[in-house]
Amino acid sequence: MIIDAIPADERVWVPQAPNVWFRPLLLDTTGGGWFNLLRVRRSGVLSRHRHPGPVYGFVIKGHWHYLEHDFVASPGKFLFEPPGETHTLVVDSDDEMITLFNVNGSMVYVDEDGKAIDFEDVFTKIQMCIGHYESTGLGTKFVEQFIR
Ligand code: FE
Repeated sequence: MIIDAIPADERVWVPQAPNVWFRPLLLDTTGGGWFNLLRVRRSGVLSRHRHPGPVYGFVIKGHWHYLEHDFVASPGKFLFEPPGETHTLVVDSDDEMITLFNVNGSMVYVDEDGKAIDFEDVFTKIQMCIGHYESTGLGTKFVEQFIR
């Protein structure tokens, strides 16, 4: 498969939270992970989370950082997040940020004490896509092109 990563049709972006969207690229139900573009148009704390599997990222646009680290993720930076690490993603400005993430396993959202409060995996991602694509008229089957 080959697709335009930045879609011409805005409806391909799935709303995740106010001013936060993801664009599915590959939803891997065999390996249990996914590739997506994360797009954020607001500054501040995005989420505090932990993942039991490795995560790889490549920054396309914008600037962000983790409270727990002293690096700044900026366009062209590649990052590796080791399994088991908890971190808090903070977007540095209201200018658009877009980052490619490959998440393996799941995202576990945690509170300030590190207690799990929510999670995402490839299957919850697929369900979010189905709901959004149905409501925008792309149809429930639109997501199938991304699923392997
Ligand atoms: Fe992470």
